[in-house]
Amino acid sequence: MIGVMRIVLAIIAAALIIAAGAFLFAGRAAGPVVEIIQPVKVLGQAGTLDVVVRAPRGALTRLDVSLEQAGQAHPLFSLPGAEGATLAQEGPDAVRLTRALGARSVKGLKSGEARLVITAGRPVLFGLREATTQASHAMTVRLEPPRVAVLSRFHFINHGGSEMVVYRVTPTDVESGVRVGDRTYRGFPASAAGLPGADASVRVAFFALLWDQDLNTPMTVYARDDAGNQARASFDTRVFPKPFRKSRIDVPDEFLSRVVPEILAQSPEFKVDDPNDLVKSYVAINSQMRRANAETIEKQAANTAPEVLWQGPFRQLTNSSVESSFADQRTYFYKGEEIDRQVHLGFDLAVTANVPISASNRGVVAYAAYLGIYGNCVIVDHGMGVQSLYAHLSSIDVKVGDRVELGQTLGRSGMTGLAGGDHLHYTMLVNGHPVNPVDWWSAQWINDRILRKLREAGAPAEVTQSGAPSPESRAAAAAR
Ligand SMILES: [Zn+2]
Repeated sequence: MIGVMRIVLAIIAAALIIAAGAFLFAGRAAGPVVEIIQPVKVLGQAGTLDVVVRAPRGALTRLDVSLEQAGQAHPLFSLPGAEGATLAQEGPDAVRLTRALGARSVKGLKSGEARLVITAGRPVLFGLREATTQASHAMTVRLEPPRVAVLSRFHFINHGGSEMVVYRVTPTDVESGVRVGDRTYRGFPASAAGLPGADASVRVAFFALLWDQDLNTPMTVYARDDAGNQARASFDTRVFPKPFRKSRIDVPDEFLSRVVPEILAQSPEFKVDDPNDLVKSYVAINSQMRRANAETIEKQAANTAPEVLWQGPFRQLTNSSVESSFADQRTYFYKGEEIDRQVHLGFDLAVTANVPISASNRGVVAYAAYLGIYGNCVIVDHGMGVQSLYAHLSSIDVKVGDRVELGQTLGRSGMTGLAGGDHLHYTMLVNGHPVNPVDWWSAQWINDRILRKLREAGAPAEVTQSGAPSPESRAAAAAR
């Protein structure tokens, strides 16, 4: 009898040890995985809290979310739920919590540092114990919009041409630039544009009024922070209309039989219905391929250098005569019948065959390859979104990433792509959009539109200690 008791006691003791072990082991189990998707680092007037919590089957025993600021905790969520918050199953093993998070939805929030604190727990050991995780995420509450003020004066814009603005933006880590209608031009530190010693708040942006934009298109300097706060500043502008020429282009058979097969052979990704129908294929190249090429060109602006690489005016190719100027509105005829209309966005500079084509200013080669209607094409990046394009070359002597000086040979002239004869198709680009190169070729334009504004922005008399131009200094400047 005693023997049986002993066995029973031993079994009970063993079970207790196993249960205690399981209980302790369960206590060390990992808690749910907390992933904070939003806010990232800045919180503004109106934002979103977006958190994914992973646990088996999405089962949670606890989910407490609060925003702590200066010793005060603002509760945002607690299980089973809170008004205005959504807790939804996200796949088999996760839940997603979303709610509004910003000064509008959380009373008493102030600008400054804050901390998002999340405690999540999941059941372990059949719900006898809980495994918890605490996650915390530091962020900045930013309730004041950024501040922008324009420092430059006298902005004269030729239709289809370029301009530059100098402005001040604070805080310095926000995105800023110029908006012209629906086009955006990023700003860059003025210290990298030839204004040494300019503090980080002084910026420049190169922008354009494109040939197809209305003369009354609104232009503003903008700033936008990560919290979505925005600011705008207007600046004086004067727009000069530039009537664009209209021209008639006759497309002869010998031209079609030379250019169409070449371009199709060099552009295997471009499909036409019938490559033997030269007229139809030509119209497809002239319209669809032209658009696709424009997109490729526009993409080259993304990697522009954040500093001005050029010096002084750009140089027009020597010994070249102007055959066709910027934004020429062309109507194309085949055997007397209109087949297409396009706008020619560049200058055609007639040269003889195989003459060296040189860089119009200092820069870095951004593109050097065959590009559809442009044939062998080179794009040189001059920094801050300003680039130059050289097309129809017979050969290319540079590769992407090469630093080039003004006058350095990029390749040889030719008639590859859509070219009726040996010529250089040349254009300037601002943020990937073709602009009239005439501005950039002019020493007077460079001096007045760029260097003058940098000089004036850098003049100590223009800026008071607080950083904003005083009314007296403005009046004095206007009187000069
Ligand atoms: Zn051309």
